[in-house]
Amino acid sequence: MQDKYLKHLLLLLLFSCAVILNSFSKTQKSLSDSTKTQKNEKPGIFVIKNVNIIPMTLENKIIKNATVVIKDNKILSINKPVTGNAEIIDGKGKWLIPGLIDMHVHNMADVNLGATFPTKGANAFTNTQDFMLLYVANGVTTVFELSARPEHFGERNEIIKGNVIGPRVALAFLIDGGEGSGNIANTPADGRQSVRIAKAQGYEFIKVYSHLNIETFKAIVDEAGRQRMKVVGHIPNAFKGRIEEAFVPNYDMVAHAEEYAKQTDTFSDHDAKRFAQLAKKNGTWLSPTLTAIVRIGEQARSLDGIRNLSSLKYVPPLLQSKWLTANNYNKGTTPEFVAHIDKIADFNIRLVKAFKEARVPMVAGTDSGTSGVVWGFALHDEIELLVKAGLTPGEALISATRLPATWLGIDNKIGTVETGKYADLVLLDANPLTDISNTRKISGVFVNGRWLDKSGINAMLSDLAKRNAASKNKFDWSKRGEL
Ligand SMILES: [Zn+2]
Repeated sequence: MQDKYLKHLLLLLLFSCAVILNSFSKTQKSLSDSTKTQKNEKPGIFVIKNVNIIPMTLENKIIKNATVVIKDNKILSINKPVTGNAEIIDGKGKWLIPGLIDMHVHNMADVNLGATFPTKGANAFTNTQDFMLLYVANGVTTVFELSARPEHFGERNEIIKGNVIGPRVALAFLIDGGEGSGNIANTPADGRQSVRIAKAQGYEFIKVYSHLNIETFKAIVDEAGRQRMKVVGHIPNAFKGRIEEAFVPNYDMVAHAEEYAKQTDTFSDHDAKRFAQLAKKNGTWLSPTLTAIVRIGEQARSLDGIRNLSSLKYVPPLLQSKWLTANNYNKGTTPEFVAHIDKIADFNIRLVKAFKEARVPMVAGTDSGTSGVVWGFALHDEIELLVKAGLTPGEALISATRLPATWLGIDNKIGTVETGKYADLVLLDANPLTDISNTRKISGVFVNGRWLDKSGINAMLSDLAKRNAASKNKFDWSKRGEL
């Protein structure tokens, strides 16, 4: 069963080059027109009044009825007098938290789906604004792309320039081994060279994948350390039965709880605790991605879970088609596969408990782009699952704010609500510390110098859903090569 599960994971990666046709150029144009006008204006001053701040600092003392001044996209002051003209945002009875960070995503970008002649480039295109809306509508202001390619740099630049409203994007270069396609390294020398190429091309992080051999994995992690790049990823299958050997210096984060689940035959609490100690000793963090396995388990039973997803209408139509007609978790399913996924999901929760007990830092990640895991929306599912697994609401929020910023090395810029930091902020209608599902009650989001209030967000989302519904029949995953 384990091999079958690995095959599923591999398919997941192959198909996560998610795509959408750019059939909405009209809307994209009007949006970029309006952003262009705003780009030329001087960034204004925004004041959030009478708001309760949950700063997510180490002390995390709630500041009640505070005044927050935002200038030039940064938090200028908290509870200081306001000078000059400002746009006032009423924060009465509301709660202000740092912008949320998803530490495991696969972003959609333009892609070549089977077009073969030499001068032909991509044949399936992403409407970047429609896509990035899913994040900002959910208060997600930073994401970590874990199989980055050149198109993701282009998207990131559009966001930085202000042409697209979207999150900050950190990019990891994926290296695998074996016979597959992509960036493959099967010798230590090739592994080191892959890291150096990634560094030269501007990637900031390295992702290691399942089919690397042991010596190549070690060389990659070592070279990344020399190049001052952090390493995140899977525990290669070659370490089965000798997992402790994978914990070498600079192996900084394991990307899924199931990377540990794959390493046990007994699914015992003893193993969970043993793994937590290995991670603790090596300083290796964990992004459990609990939500992905739960969704995979649902799909292995029936596609109703996907059909009933309230966020499905925002998913690009070509992917809606793929998730419902070419769903590999559902197609090849057997009762044994379902039982195996359930076992992993249960073990994942016990792993989180063991890692919490051992004080191994954990960060929220979703693996968005996996079928049924919808960008932006899924992070709220993940935060809730972390609480169900035993984190307090405060700890779950830290795992989606301050800790990811720390791991990414940008905690001096984002991750908390503090004077001098970037104003990546989410205003909530209710206190998430008393009920974690309140992170979904978004009153407004501050991102890249722009304030998006609830009515604006809802209008953009319903417009997107309408256009998706209208064009749905034009997209058929099985005909993707003919686009
Ligand atoms: Zn992933």
